Amino acid sequence: MFKIFPVVEFYITNVCNLTCRGCNRFNDKKFKGHQYWDDHAEEYEAWSKRLDIPRITIIGGEPTLNPDLEKWAMNLRRLWPNAVIMIQTNGTYWKPEYKKLWDNYAVGFGLSLHDPLTAEKIKEQWKHQAGVIEAYVFHQATVIEKNNTWVLHQSDAKRAFAACDMKHDHTMYNGKLYKCPAMSNLPDFDQQFGLTLDERQRDLLYSYTPLASNCSDFELQEFINTKDQHISQCEFCPEHLKWHTALGELKENLPKPIFDIKEIKEEDLDQVRFPPDWKLRTAK
Ligand code: SF4
Repeated sequence: MFKIFPVVEFYITNVCNLTCRGCNRFNDKKFKGHQYWDDHAEEYEAWSKRLDIPRITIIGGEPTLNPDLEKWAMNLRRLWPNAVIMIQTNGTYWKPEYKKLWDNYAVGFGLSLHDPLTAEKIKEQWKHQAGVIEAYVFHQATVIEKNNTWVLHQSDAKRAFAACDMKHDHTMYNGKLYKCPAMSNLPDFDQQFGLTLDERQRDLLYSYTPLASNCSDFELQEFINTKDQHISQCEFCPEHLKWHTALGELKENLPKPIFDIKEIKEEDLDQVRFPPDWKLRTAK
């Protein structure tokens, strides 16, 4: 078994009802497509025999829009019985029946608040079900709209990695394991929107190979060993972060996300990503 941390995100939909400017998975762009459990079930079964994952997040897009949500929750719990598993939602689709995801599968919710004007109402709705992350500010995404085309940044890869707030969000997508959400989503985005890339950039983008569930032990260990190191494709991400609200306004005095560039160690796991009272809230 290989332990992988701090978190593996199972990315289950490109679809979102909000259009937060700068969404780091490009879900503000009419991006299409849900992922269904059955499409890659055998690969996830195989992964569960190789990967010990202490923290799993089910994420999108807005994961509650995926009609397969319960199937994801049920099967991830079955395959990783000891993991902390949460669904990261923007909170706009609260339903009382979500409680059964906790009651039946011990899968809780994390709430990403993106708009201070609706935050209190959403917090109240989810108060017994979800731990809260205040995510009011965004920075520019990896894709940039320029003259009606889509381009990527041309950064120094090391600097972009140092600035990156997604670098430890390992992503499981279509049965494969990716270093981060940018690498899982860019090829899909290219297919749906057509990125304008020169030949070198296109070669670099498509030279990234995610891990398949039958990869060698050496490849898997290498993936884990290099989690705190940049990859060449980091040049596609911003190295100078410009912050704005989810609605695109530049504002002062909004809470900024806190992240740092030091290595994440196994003993730090409980401090990573999950609010301290998260378990308490979901258990009620
Ligand atoms: S490619 Fe590098 S900088 Fe971009 S999201 Fe992934 S880890 Fe972060």
